[in-house]
Amino acid sequence: MKYYSTKNKSLRVDLKTAVLHSLPADNGLYMPVTIKALDKYLLDNIEEFSFQELSYNICHQFLEEDLSNREIDSVISSSINFDAPVIHLSKQLKSLELWHGPSLAFKDFGARFMAALMSKLVAGENKTLDILVATSGDTGGAVASGFFNVPNINVTILYPSGKVSYLQEKQLTTLGKNIKALEINGTFDDCQGLVKKAFLDKELNTRLNLSSANSINIARLIPQTFYYFQAYKQIEASIRDQIVFCIPSGNFGNLTAGLLAKKMGLNYAKLIAATNINNVVPKYLETGDYNPIASFSTISNAMDVGNPSNFQRMLDLFDHDSKQMRSVIVPFFYDDDTTRKSMKSVKNKYNYTADPHGAVGFEACEQYLKNHTNATVINFETAHPAKFLDVMTSVGMSVDVPDRLKRLESKEKDSVKMDSNFSSFKSYLMDK
Ligand SMILES: *Cc1c(COP(=O)(O)O)cnc(C)c1O
Repeated sequence: MKYYSTKNKSLRVDLKTAVLHSLPADNGLYMPVTIKALDKYLLDNIEEFSFQELSYNICHQFLEEDLSNREIDSVISSSINFDAPVIHLSKQLKSLELWHGPSLAFKDFGARFMAALMSKLVAGENKTLDILVATSGDTGGAVASGFFNVPNINVTILYPSGKVSYLQEKQLTTLGKNIKALEINGTFDDCQGLVKKAFLDKELNTRLNLSSANSINIARLIPQTFYYFQAYKQIEASIRDQIVFCIPSGNFGNLTAGLLAKKMGLNYAKLIAATNINNVVPKYLETGDYNPIASFSTISNAMDVGNPSNFQRMLDLFDHDSKQMRSVIVPFFYDDDTTRKSMKSVKNKYNYTADPHGAVGFEACEQYLKNHTNATVINFETAHPAKFLDVMTSVGMSVDVPDRLKRLESKEKDSVKMDSNFSSFKSYLMDK
């Protein structure tokens, strides 16, 4: 497969360039040149395939030019090795739990797949890759865990000081070795801005082989399509075409993956885009105007994104036509008070504990179901509630903390504090 830039459709690069360079020089985003529908047998008999078999078949078209079938198989078996179960809350409302991986958020799928793929792509190259990643909370932990101890790859994680949860911070600042954390005095958008600037800086790119592990990287997006198929498979065949996936969204990587899944032949009904008050995409869907904002802090902090990077890919997939986009994506957005109420009401109605991000989605599902009485809505439970203990406690909900989070308590935080200033960031990287 070759990849083009959303800003230049005639550009053609191979998988290695798209994944290791992350961003085209024109500041667009890489997209696969073609997205073929999967084999009809697979689509018609999806329940015969295991999660790993589905994943292998889905990503094959994107990797086959650069990797052998054995290598593709090894990427899948070393990364997609935990489940994505659908929990049935009611006849019409389901929760797709995407937090069964090591860092307890859906980002483990993307980060682990990407780490396995990148280590294959740099093997034998005799060079070190420097991965820069901005996190609003969960990417950092997933990337830190996915890339920990991977040979020839160093990771620098930028996170907004005071804006990630205590346990999230522990996840990204306590591993050491090839994982470094920069604590930025600013917002997630500032962190993302610094990373984007670094990629466009000539001098830095001469000195270092920079790469990104954010969802701007196409290698993060591909594995996020896998669990749409895996969820679909777990729903009764006769109603699958009425499935609506509800995606609590920030940078819109997860939702964009759902659009790719549709192109690959997954015949679901709609996607719901659920956001907090950082609602530039819902606003675009309502008005046709896209107005990025400086992000607001909310209790669903992993979705505090004022200028979602994958929006460019969404525009590209719909030929910049907001009407077309609206025919597939239904927007909802909620403030923190509504999110808290949603957490309580999901607990009362279904005896299910939703994290603040999932709760934004559940509220959208309830609204949607009021007007679509035949739909089957699958909400993405994007992280384990224990990652957001302060929020859970503030609404009077207790959560069992899984052992892999508890173990972090005793570990020492190690981070470098920095203002949101490109020249400081650049000298830090140059001095490494
Ligand atoms: C990253 C994240 C989101 C947002 O996902 P995008 O793909 O950036 O839209 C939602 N919830 C949680 C818990 C996350 O970590």
